[in-house]
Amino acid sequence: MEVQAAGWRTPAAGPGRALVPEGLRLVAFVCATWIATDIGFASYRPEFGVSLIWPLSGVGLLWAATGDRRTWPLDAVLLTAVSSAALVVAGSTTGQAAMGALQVVLQATVYQAVMVRWAPALWGSGGTRPLRRTADLWVFLLAVTVGSAVASGVRAAGLGLVPTSDLQDASLVLARNLSWMIAVGGVALQLGPRLAPGGPRPARTRPEPGPRAAPTDRTWRGGPLELLALAVVTLAVYGAVFTREQPLPLTFLLTVPSLWAAMRLDALRAAVHAVASGTFAIVMTLSGNGVFASMDDPRVGAALAQALLAVLVLKTLVISCVMSERDAAIRRARVSEAASLGRAALLGAVLHNMNEGIVVAREDGEVLVRNAAGDALLRSSVMLTTLPDATRGRLFHPDGTALDEAELPFRRALAGEEVLREDLVLRSDSSPDGRVIEVSASPVAETEESPRAAVVNFRDVTTVREHEGDLAAFAGVVAHDLNNPLTVVSGWADSLADFFALGDVSAEDGQAMIGRIQGAATHMRRFIDDLLGYTVARDRPLSPEDLDLSAVAEEVARLRRDGATHPHIEIEPGIRVRADVVLLRQLLDNLVGNAVKYVAPHTRPHVTLTCRPAGDMVELRLTDNGIGIPESMRQRVFETFVRVQTDGYGGTGLGLDICRRVVVRHGGDIRVEEGAEGVGSTFVFTLPRAGARLPGLPPVERQQVAVSPEPTA
Ligand code: ADP
Repeated sequence: MEVQAAGWRTPAAGPGRALVPEGLRLVAFVCATWIATDIGFASYRPEFGVSLIWPLSGVGLLWAATGDRRTWPLDAVLLTAVSSAALVVAGSTTGQAAMGALQVVLQATVYQAVMVRWAPALWGSGGTRPLRRTADLWVFLLAVTVGSAVASGVRAAGLGLVPTSDLQDASLVLARNLSWMIAVGGVALQLGPRLAPGGPRPARTRPEPGPRAAPTDRTWRGGPLELLALAVVTLAVYGAVFTREQPLPLTFLLTVPSLWAAMRLDALRAAVHAVASGTFAIVMTLSGNGVFASMDDPRVGAALAQALLAVLVLKTLVISCVMSERDAAIRRARVSEAASLGRAALLGAVLHNMNEGIVVAREDGEVLVRNAAGDALLRSSVMLTTLPDATRGRLFHPDGTALDEAELPFRRALAGEEVLREDLVLRSDSSPDGRVIEVSASPVAETEESPRAAVVNFRDVTTVREHEGDLAAFAGVVAHDLNNPLTVVSGWADSLADFFALGDVSAEDGQAMIGRIQGAATHMRRFIDDLLGYTVARDRPLSPEDLDLSAVAEEVARLRRDGATHPHIEIEPGIRVRADVVLLRQLLDNLVGNAVKYVAPHTRPHVTLTCRPAGDMVELRLTDNGIGIPESMRQRVFETFVRVQTDGYGGTGLGLDICRRVVVRHGGDIRVEEGAEGVGSTFVFTLPRAGARLPGLPPVERQQVAVSPEPTA
């Protein structure tokens, strides 16, 4: 017979091969075959021409399971030779001996072929696995049944070697062949993998749940006391049923010890217990004791006793397979439960740490998920899924119209719409102007367990939108302020071209026009310089150091003193601060520049810079004798592009904004007051004193953008 499975085809792959050296294995099997044949023939009943029991069929199974394809021819020859020799020696006819040998070889071959074909992963048929799964159990049952049926059929046919069997004989032969295969196979398929090198060992502790939890052996959880109790109960029950002349009707009790063993012992111990109990029953029956011995026909009694053996072992196998699979299923469930919990915890942590608000809610309003950021943002993020009375009339479109329930992004998402980054305005008592909330919403896939739901995510974009608005206004002003001088340049350049085309332009006219062009260009350059200064003041990384502010201010003043108005600038010496030198120079240059610029005509500017300590800071006062700043404008002059005086004073409206940014980035503040004795202005600002630790850099607070007046051309 051609055996298909790769495992049984490769000699080294049979784990049983490594159990014992080959020679020893053969000797052991020769002995076992001889003994089993002798035992079987000892139960031979000449009046029926049949042996009542036939353990040799189990030994044949073992030959096949521990060998491989290469050893099987020799195994089969030896099995035939030894069993037939043992039968002849025991006193059988040669026909009986031949039939006995033929049966056992056929039975083992058919069994092994089925096992190798359909359960190649099991120990004994090419693999290493013990019998732990119900699917394998079915294959085992098929193999022993087909093997026994073929052997019994041949025996019943007689083949001219023995007389043909009647029904009782055939049934007995089938029962005895089948039961010894089940008994020996049931134990061997548990024990073999344990003895095989590298095979699974019985677990000492309960197996840890693993992601690929497969049926493993159930652990023996009881102690020696329980084993002893089980042995005592088994002996008592079997003794009561099988030892009395007139047995008590206690046969039903036979299920108790076997059930106990199957539920509490590991698969191997339980199988050994079943085989021991069944063998006891057979021995007692053959010796004329017990319920089965009371049958009129000894063949029926023997068949029943051997059927009991088969049933006991099968019951054990079924229970241990089912329980192993149940344990594996529980372990898998635990693993996936742990994985789900882990994923849920991770998701919770992610949600918790998100800056965006998230709400997942069902159509009926039940909130499934919400996060802290969302609740903090809206007090209650639930209001984005429904409009309770408390919040009705608080959500608006950006154009100011109130939102009704159907317009809520959540409701629209439930209706199947994908809402992508829409702005809503949320007004509350604390922010009557409203916060701008950017909201997205999408439907969540509908399943049977969870009816329609939608996920809403949102974030506060008030500052972002203000920034965007400011940036747009800023760009508009910059474009406008650059466009004006450009118009001047191109206008006068065109005029100059026209004059030249006419061929007659006086030097006086030409110089006047070129002067305008130069003026406009100067204004543009100043504006661009201021823009660069503005960017530096805002974005330059701060590198504070201990500085002599007086020295920096002197440098600035020296350049100014050369100006047309010959300003008088007095600086208190020895002022030391901790600051970024580039930004500090910008600050002083803007303040001193303004002080000498904003003076009445024909007035010589007079500027003083003084200082006094203020804790970790120093307070500086820059006083001028200029035109002063009206009280109503003293705060606004620090805003971007805000100018007070335009006539006759060139400027961009960025200088004081730069000053404010520089001071604030150093942790100080700046304001403007009326000058000394009601004349001019005094700019008061603070900076960290030298050696002081620079305070944390507070963000520069938001500024309103005002469109600057027309630049002077
Ligand atoms: P500008 O480029 O116009 O000088 P600034 O931001 O430096 O822009 O100043 C804003 C406005 O504040 C100026 O237009 C001017 O009207 C007023 N200003 C600034 N400094 C002084 C000062 N020392 N005396 C009077 N007015 C001043």
